[in-house]
Amino acid sequence: MPVSGAPFEDGALLLRGDTIIEVGNKSELIKKFPSAEVIDLGFTAILPGLINSHVHLELTNLGPRRGVARVSFAFWLLGLVVGTRIRTERYFMESIKRGLKLLKESGTTTAGHIATFIRNPAQLFGEAGIRGVIFLEAIGLKKRDTARIAATLRNEITQFENSELVTPAISPHAPYSVSEDLFRKISEISKAEKFPISIHVAESIDEVKLIKSNKGKFKKILYPLLGLKRYAPAGRGRTPLQYLYELGVIDENTSAVHCVHLHEDDIKILSESKASVIHCPRSNYYLNVGKAPLKQLYEAKINLCLATDGLVSNSTLSLWDEARFLKKQNPWLDSESILRMMTVNPARALRMDGRIGTLSPGKSADFIAVDLRGYDGGNIYDFLISNTSSERIKGVWVGGKDILDQ
Ligand SMILES: [Zn+2]
Repeated sequence: MPVSGAPFEDGALLLRGDTIIEVGNKSELIKKFPSAEVIDLGFTAILPGLINSHVHLELTNLGPRRGVARVSFAFWLLGLVVGTRIRTERYFMESIKRGLKLLKESGTTTAGHIATFIRNPAQLFGEAGIRGVIFLEAIGLKKRDTARIAATLRNEITQFENSELVTPAISPHAPYSVSEDLFRKISEISKAEKFPISIHVAESIDEVKLIKSNKGKFKKILYPLLGLKRYAPAGRGRTPLQYLYELGVIDENTSAVHCVHLHEDDIKILSESKASVIHCPRSNYYLNVGKAPLKQLYEAKINLCLATDGLVSNSTLSLWDEARFLKKQNPWLDSESILRMMTVNPARALRMDGRIGTLSPGKSADFIAVDLRGYDGGNIYDFLISNTSSERIKGVWVGGKDILDQ
């Protein structure tokens, strides 16, 4: 199942080193390359490794969370800020390790990981064999901190130079936690270096109320308790997305994460700027923030991606579980589109579409084999979305290397 084209039976991949050389019929490839070593994966579907475009692996051990949170988004966020302050570096490292294991077991080969505390997790990704786009998180509401934060980011980015599996990126956290000044600076860095950026945006109604009219729980609860009342970028008379767009941070390098509360004009901005939208339906459900206007985004042909977010707002890190939830919430959405939201679309959002996301000649050999027991024809996409769980993941390869038992 190349995803770049229609699925076909008796398929095979010809690999050389870490790269896919050809994709085609098994016997034809064997005839063409008689000296190639043949590995038979049995009755499986071979598809591109999944890409989880928004996940906080550092928070894995703070979860899982099931059902619906008992507190509002503002209080959940406050709990998270306070809860992570008392944790150690070791705790976050262990969390990343466990998170990477969970990703791998469920067939995910690339993570768009938000690095809040462990700023260079390259070694952990290397040990797990998983590819990562590491979004260095930036938070800062005070104007006087901008230069220092930007200098730190630049310095941290250079530390990634020799990493094989990970590449750096930046995540200015959200419109309510980053100053106007810092947004501009980050946009400058990202444009100069062509880095992807990832922003939590329009996640809760309180965020919209704050940015638009300086009202809501963020103003009443979050800022006073965090001692940030006078720094809040509040009352702009615009939606969070319009505000960001005017600051110049929404373009084709941008992943807008969540996008639950959007105005019609916001969708137009996303479409015209060619930004990607990362949809995290189970996180939105757990945090009880509402439901993203998926159909409108889909009809506007926006590059839609599916992600799990972290276990602090979700019950698993499996994209298959996420896909089943998505399908249940949106029965109109076809399974092929859902698979695209887990492969080729996030590859584009992470600016990695030249290397991963489809099984195509020249791309990195990142693929998985899913057991097809019980499949007797019919829509293969429906079958995979309905039935795939970790038990069916028979192999996971990144750069041609089997990493499942690594
Ligand atoms: Zn997040």
